[in-house]
Amino acid sequence: MKTLISSDVRLLANLIQEGKVVIFPTETVYGIGASTKLEAACLRVYEIKGRPKDNPLIAHFHSIKAIEEVCILGDLGRKLLEKFSPGPLTLILPKKDKSLFPKELATLAVRIPKNPVIRDWIELTGSPISAPSANLSGRPSLTKLADVIRYFDGVVDGILEAEEPSFGIESTVVSLVGKTPALLRPGSIESTELLSILPDLWIPEPTAKNDIRAVPLSPGTKYKHYAPNARVVLATTEEFLYSLKTMSESTLTAWIGFSWTGKEIIGLEEMTEKQSLGKNHRFCSVSSNEDYASKLYAFFESCDLAGIRTIFCEVPKPERGEEGLRNRLEKATGG
Ligand code: AMP
Ligand code: MG
Repeated sequence: MKTLISSDVRLLANLIQEGKVVIFPTETVYGIGASTKLEAACLRVYEIKGRPKDNPLIAHFHSIKAIEEVCILGDLGRKLLEKFSPGPLTLILPKKDKSLFPKELATLAVRIPKNPVIRDWIELTGSPISAPSANLSGRPSLTKLADVIRYFDGVVDGILEAEEPSFGIESTVVSLVGKTPALLRPGSIESTELLSILPDLWIPEPTAKNDIRAVPLSPGTKYKHYAPNARVVLATTEEFLYSLKTMSESTLTAWIGFSWTGKEIIGLEEMTEKQSLGKNHRFCSVSSNEDYASKLYAFFESCDLAGIRTIFCEVPKPERGEEGLRNRLEKATGG
């Protein structure tokens, strides 16, 4: 199949109207989308990704008004969208228009992406766009055009070229359909920020797999996610530094974290980035939790390409951005 790779939103909107599948960037990660009105096109997205059929897709809209036309927004939903949209917040709402994909569900996950070009494109299609992250199911989401092309050129009908994702982790998902609003997936919009509008927001504690409370609220949360081929080790700063100091020249190992050069690392004062990057090693230095999130998935991809076996990830800082990042890192370890 020939894939149309273009920044021409009109051409790519035509593809969606014809029932085709198009990859596009959002502020979070790349999405792989089809018209929410066309079931067969949405089902092709599942096929391409190898996504389990019981894991529904998020519908992407260009405006609050467009959401209201097909869902029951309610007071809380409106307040949340007015405060956080366009942006990385997904709401689960009751559907008004029962014909939208997935037809068997009475609810729809909705969000409005931040990039105005993407919103213009969605508007031009005349439909919401149902899109999960553009990756093979279970693998890390993609945040770089080059990685998208490597996996999907010749596989999807179109790739929309626009600003690459900057947040780097998927949207925060909040359900407004139960008795109590619930945080289904942490993300860059933090639960503490949501509390001003949702004071009784239920924030499920991370639970052990065999705990009865681990029964998934959202289908997607029960699957393996965000995992590269390499083994991911979530390391305290002390463990991270220890693994650096004791690294062996011959093992294919990588590190991503805050504490890689610091003069504070006893014994490694002389180490420069170059020296640490022997052909068996990779390093990614981050300056904040936000910077970490934005670099994480692309680093995982580059490690897999290099055949890295183990990736040490330093724990996030106990400050803004920790919640979503820690969730993704824990999932990547297989947790
Ligand atoms: P992604 O694979 O990043 O697109 O993830 C979308 C997330 O939203 C997954 O965890 C889905 O299970 C969840 N989701 C989508 N639609 C619904 C829905 N109607 N009810 C509950 N969760 C949903
Ligand atoms: Mg995904």
